[in-house]
Amino acid sequence: MLLIFLTIFASASSYHLYDRSRTQRYIDLSYKFDNETIYFPGMKRFQLHKEGERVQGPGYSYAAYTMSMAEHGGTHLDAPFHFNDKGWTVDQIPQDSLIDVPTTLIDVSSAVKQSRRPSDFTLDVHHVIQHEIESNQVIPFGGVLLIYTGWSKYWPDKIKYLGWDNSTDVKGTLNFPGISANLANWLVNKRHITGIGLDTASIDPGNSKSFPAHAILSKNQIYNLENVANLDSLLRAKRNDCALHLFVMPLKVTGGTGAPASILAYCKENEASILTL
Ligand SMILES: [Zn+2]
Repeated sequence: MLLIFLTIFASASSYHLYDRSRTQRYIDLSYKFDNETIYFPGMKRFQLHKEGERVQGPGYSYAAYTMSMAEHGGTHLDAPFHFNDKGWTVDQIPQDSLIDVPTTLIDVSSAVKQSRRPSDFTLDVHHVIQHEIESNQVIPFGGVLLIYTGWSKYWPDKIKYLGWDNSTDVKGTLNFPGISANLANWLVNKRHITGIGLDTASIDPGNSKSFPAHAILSKNQIYNLENVANLDSLLRAKRNDCALHLFVMPLKVTGGTGAPASILAYCKENEASILTL
């Protein structure tokens, strides 16, 4: 009896986020939408309009609200159309690029912390190659690349997260990590990715004025995920005997340049060793 109890207790205490249990299988990489949701300066913030009172009817209690927000705030997807007038809009992105997509997660938080100006850190090709060598796995073709810069530690402090020098100035200077044009080109030509995601407000560094990574990726029908949440949890939960996959679920807005998105990660078994160097 004692043995049975200890066995049950041991399995419960070592409960893993990737366990097959329905409730623990997925890690949610999306922030909630509420008053704290971060938007770029000047953009329409999330609002839940609670018009009218809750109605009590016979056997029910009824409420229905209206919400409004800019496309590009909180956890969201940039459709290629955002920076390419011939690119896919949100509703045109193929499901195969969004659902059950093989994914690589790279942790550059130490490099960001140790850099001279962490808020201007720019991820380059050598960071990704270093990860591939250390993990002995290449980024899967057609996959998504997620990058943990550690910047999510500032969420939901808008001033720190955006590196906003002057909060009263709508055009205030922004400073947060992003990726280089060089890396964007390399990911297109050498790894043929489907999408990329960061735990910052934009894939280009905050101080960028010309947004080259956006331009290069959108030209190649690659989508961006911005303000990705909980990548630190995902890193902690990482296992080597299964392969990381994503479900990316943007609001399917006809003609949308981007949309709020729910993103779920899970680890797919029996795929771990396929992509070794
Ligand atoms: Zn965006």
